[in-house]
Amino acid sequence: MKVFKFGGASVKDAESVKNVSVVLGTQGFNSCLVVVSAMGKTTNALEKVVETYFVKGDFAAELEDLQQKHLAVAQDLFPSEHAVFSKIKLIFQETEAFLRRNKSPNYNFVYDQVVSCGELVSSVILSQYLNYIKFSNSWIDAREYIKTDHNYREANLDWERTKEHMSSLDRAQCYVTQGFIGADENNFTVTLGREGSDYSAAIFAFCLKTDSLTIWKDVPGVMTGDPRKFQNVELLDHISYEEAIEMAYYGASVIHPKTLQPLMQQQIPFYVKSFLEPTKAGTRVGSGVAPAVAQSFILKENQHLLRIATRDFSFIAEEHLSQIFSLLAKYKVKISLMQNSAISLDLCVDDLYNGIESLLSDLAKDFQTELTREVSLFTIRNANLDELNNLYNGREILLEQVAKRTVQAVLK
Ligand code: ADP
Ligand code: ASP
Ligand code: MG
Repeated sequence: MKVFKFGGASVKDAESVKNVSVVLGTQGFNSCLVVVSAMGKTTNALEKVVETYFVKGDFAAELEDLQQKHLAVAQDLFPSEHAVFSKIKLIFQETEAFLRRNKSPNYNFVYDQVVSCGELVSSVILSQYLNYIKFSNSWIDAREYIKTDHNYREANLDWERTKEHMSSLDRAQCYVTQGFIGADENNFTVTLGREGSDYSAAIFAFCLKTDSLTIWKDVPGVMTGDPRKFQNVELLDHISYEEAIEMAYYGASVIHPKTLQPLMQQQIPFYVKSFLEPTKAGTRVGSGVAPAVAQSFILKENQHLLRIATRDFSFIAEEHLSQIFSLLAKYKVKISLMQNSAISLDLCVDDLYNGIESLLSDLAKDFQTELTREVSLFTIRNANLDELNNLYNGREILLEQVAKRTVQAVLK
């Protein structure tokens, strides 16, 4: 069995959905599990629905707009009497009914119940379309297999329960399912973190011990830098799991950082390929590869630099650190880079869950803080140290760290 994952860009409209069937045709459509994300920018639009619901209470127009967009995609793919239309409507009706009934003030809980509808509806469209063109498959609900805790918006996997539930799947069949979503102990929907569909695919690959996982992207594979941000980048044909883990960890957004560990544990070959050129080799991630020598670049944007010092300028000691780290965990503010000096702790952080204001006000009780918003974290792997100043391109360097040949700089 093989696992194929298609992200938002690969199913953004009807033509793209048709292209998925072309891609699958090149691979031979048998014994496979297809994991699909929400179409295009649907997740962002659903995040707005949740925001509108909490701020204004009225969300119906935004949800209806999304329903119409999905129905329009389906109109280009299916005859008008096809069952897909009522399935799409049902998913939106259920989402709307949830919001009308909901009494929970828990933003993250509500978020997961609503935002998950993007993956449900895209997977229904894809599964039905593949069946319609005689690529027969069964649609399965990922929430029956991916079992987690109830850390909404970034749920942690319960591997034992997940493996147990997946053991009922038949490795000879073809399935279509959702990325990004799962269910907690009480069967409420959870999500695994933004861009988490790559991770879902790796979870299925791991538990089903599949022969491979391929994620289909709008780039030729993993490159020495994001082609949208850097010129003259090259395709990496073959890289080790460790190399891919590090690139993803530093912020190479082509692979979700949690994807690699499960694959490495089971030594499952992992491919990153282009859905535009499906017969090209792309990048193979696996074992037995010499460490990469090519200089590569990763730019992580929308970061913030937080400087924390004690009020009396005494040293930051262990008790301070543990207090600071538990507040970071509480507000889900993620550290991308840290450095401490005699009297301050500098943290480059990612504020994905808008926790930074609450963090600052809690920290202010005991510490002095200084925040520089909107900085970038620039990582250069296998860096040519003589060239650094050219690479910084005149930008102000707020912090720099060198470990072996990996250079990281926080730039304004
Ligand atoms: P998906 O459709 O699965 O959500 P993403 O948009 O998340 O795909 O990931 C693909 C994007 O990753 C590319 O369009 C590219 O801009 C970006 N990217 C970042 N770093 C790299 C890299 N090193 N190599 C290739 N692409 C990269
Ligand atoms: N649809 C989700 C997101 O946009 C998950 C994913 O695409 O991987 O974050
Ligand atoms: Mg994505």
